[in-house]
Amino acid sequence: KKTVTVIGAGLAGVEAAWALANRGFHVRLCEMKPEKYSPAHKYKGFAELVCSNSLKSADTASACGMLKEEMRYMNSVTMRAAEKTKVGAGGALAVNRTEFSDAVTEMITNHPYIEIVNGEITEFPKSDTVIATGPLTSDIFAEKIQERCGSPLSFYDAAAPIVTAESIDMSLAFFATRYDKGEADYINCPMTKEEYEAFYNELVNAESVQLKSFENLKVYEGCMPVEVLAKRGIESVRYGCMKPVGLIDPRTDRRPYAVVQLRKENNEGTLYNLVGFQTNLKFGEQKRVFSMITGLQNAEFVRYGVMHRNTFLNSPGLLDKNFRLIDSDNIYFAGQMTGVEGYVESAASGIIAGINLARALDGEKPLELPETCMTAALARHISTENKDFQPMGANMGILPPLPERIKDKKLRYRTIADRGLEDLKKALCEQGVIKE
Ligand code: FAD
Repeated sequence: KKTVTVIGAGLAGVEAAWALANRGFHVRLCEMKPEKYSPAHKYKGFAELVCSNSLKSADTASACGMLKEEMRYMNSVTMRAAEKTKVGAGGALAVNRTEFSDAVTEMITNHPYIEIVNGEITEFPKSDTVIATGPLTSDIFAEKIQERCGSPLSFYDAAAPIVTAESIDMSLAFFATRYDKGEADYINCPMTKEEYEAFYNELVNAESVQLKSFENLKVYEGCMPVEVLAKRGIESVRYGCMKPVGLIDPRTDRRPYAVVQLRKENNEGTLYNLVGFQTNLKFGEQKRVFSMITGLQNAEFVRYGVMHRNTFLNSPGLLDKNFRLIDSDNIYFAGQMTGVEGYVESAASGIIAGINLARALDGEKPLELPETCMTAALARHISTENKDFQPMGANMGILPPLPERIKDKKLRYRTIADRGLEDLKKALCEQGVIKE
């Protein structure tokens, strides 16, 4: 069979290479380490976990647990390595990071169809390639991607947390748009003077994540962490992201003292982000302090605010749901760069890109994933038009709702996960990806 290229031997790249090699393609896996390291990478091995050593929940009835199970169905190399190198971590699947990287590296380098090519790639490929160079893609290559893709790579320094719509207490919050302009698209959380002051005091005293030097980039005024803004004075936030002007609380018929607005994160309206609440607070602190906001006392955070450099494509319109660069000669992207967020999500996208490149070269149709599985939901996220495209990790809010409402959250998640996993297994059998 043909020779194909995978650029980047991170979480996504190793999966793409593995999927292609197992389908009989000769893979050139290009990796700049150990010649050159990004500011966060330190270890010589592949699939390096740059920060936490957790691959999140092991429970298949959780969003990330479900995704991992989907990957196991698709013969994931990182899931095999994780199984061999896991360490006790309660309900999470955590690994010994060097053993994990070594296990992946060993399986990849021992594969008879995979050839490792060391060195930084500095030119955009012409065809038959999966690009998986990650959120810290080397500068020269990032420029080449930008030139070719015609759409600026997006960078962000800080992002705001996201909560599920169903966890917002709508007996306290209300729908409205400032000055009643257009549709009442925002959820507004009104606060009294006392509530605001209590919240403010916790916000300015909460603990932040220590920044690594490379992350200490210029912070644009527009995406300044809310806690940094707050430290300018007690009124700063009330004149900033908590300004109440143009909003009337229908329960009091009065303008609240301060308001937190939440904006839809997806078309279905199952997820909302806290407008202007980009933050660098520690995750536990975010939960503690932001749960003081009226209506968010029981909020379920599907993504916490984060702050680090991130290179990702403005994928909707550029990539299709098969992770293929539209109008290219079999160029695929995978990993964090496509706008999926997280180790596991990056790896999962690598599997799909690899399988789809193999199928394209074999003259087969792209893999058709059922919309109820997590992998498909992530693929939908990166390929669906979205004016304010931001990276997304696995979460239950991006899956289609169940036909009937199940109140018990545990049972609801179990039902959603079982539905997706069954549908995926069936689809993979029908398309010859697995035999059963
Ligand atoms: P990577 O795993 O980064 O792999 C990309 C590979 O491409 C690297 O090996 C790199 O050396 C190589 N490369 C880059 N440019 C070139 C080039 N021009 N030529 C050849 N090779 C190249 N996610 C979590 O789930 N948990 C966390 O705790 C977490 N912490 C993070 C911390 C930081 C600082 C960052 C930046 C991200 C973090 N993420 C985390 C997000 C994300 O999950 C990881 O970045 C993940 O590794 C992304 O996988 P990837 O395959 O897309 O990229």
